[in-house]
Amino acid sequence: AELYLNGEWLSPDKAFVSVFDRAFMFGDGIYEVTPFYCGKPFRLQDHCDRLKYCLQQIKIPFDCAILEHLMMQALSRSGLANSDAAVYIQISRGKAPRTHYYPEHAEPTVLLYAFPVVLENFHEKRWKVLVSEDFRWQRCDIKSTALLANTMSNEEAIAGGFDENLLVHDGHFTEGSHSTAFFVMNNTVYTHPEGPHILSGITRKVVLEICRDLGISYEERPVNIEELDRVEEVFLTGTTTQITIVESLHSKEKQIFTAQKGEITKRLQEEFLRRTRE
Ligand code: PLP
Repeated sequence: AELYLNGEWLSPDKAFVSVFDRAFMFGDGIYEVTPFYCGKPFRLQDHCDRLKYCLQQIKIPFDCAILEHLMMQALSRSGLANSDAAVYIQISRGKAPRTHYYPEHAEPTVLLYAFPVVLENFHEKRWKVLVSEDFRWQRCDIKSTALLANTMSNEEAIAGGFDENLLVHDGHFTEGSHSTAFFVMNNTVYTHPEGPHILSGITRKVVLEICRDLGISYEERPVNIEELDRVEEVFLTGTTTQITIVESLHSKEKQIFTAQKGEITKRLQEEFLRRTRE
């Protein structure tokens, strides 16, 4: 498989960036993961819009127009042109002498590569999830490569035998370490509203569209940890997570939620699968 780096297609062992690249020194870059089902882009415009938003927010000057072509090339160069796959895109501010403020003349570093994605057998995948403190920064809407808080949290979960985290900020659930969180109470679907405390997930947007189309009621508001005893279903979503059922939630001491139902999650999964296959 080849990857794209700054205008060249290279094998991974020949692709290098400077130690003065600001992504290496500061995590000063953003990324995107765009899915392609059977080789066809899924929600490409939404992914490109989010990428542009993030570039604007951190003032990296970069024209996204070439990206669609590069994504298709990344897929075909990796033999994934007709497969279920995703393309990772990373754009950093580029190489410059180390200063905290943005350098004037840096050329963005652009990296792309394709990797296979399995459209999961949804009904067999059920996650055990660790509830942990959300100690990330106040701009989680920016899909930054600076993910230390996310990796620290997820390492704790995986080392403890869990599959993902559910993060808690000020007594309510925000999202996972790399996924969006949804809750079902009394036949209504709840998810945290968009804003600086979560990433605006594209899969989140698709799930809310499906709710609307299937006539499932939903509300974008944070779910409090005290409401857990009323929660019947929990699921996590993301480009690679798709829609994954949460079987149980755990604090460090004990299990605090056990899935009781799964009807609504199953309906959403089935419709999601249908839309990815359209
Ligand atoms: N929240 C976080 C923190 C993420 O890293 C991700 C990425 O997968 C998501 C949510 C889900 O976003 P999307 O559905 O666009 O993949």
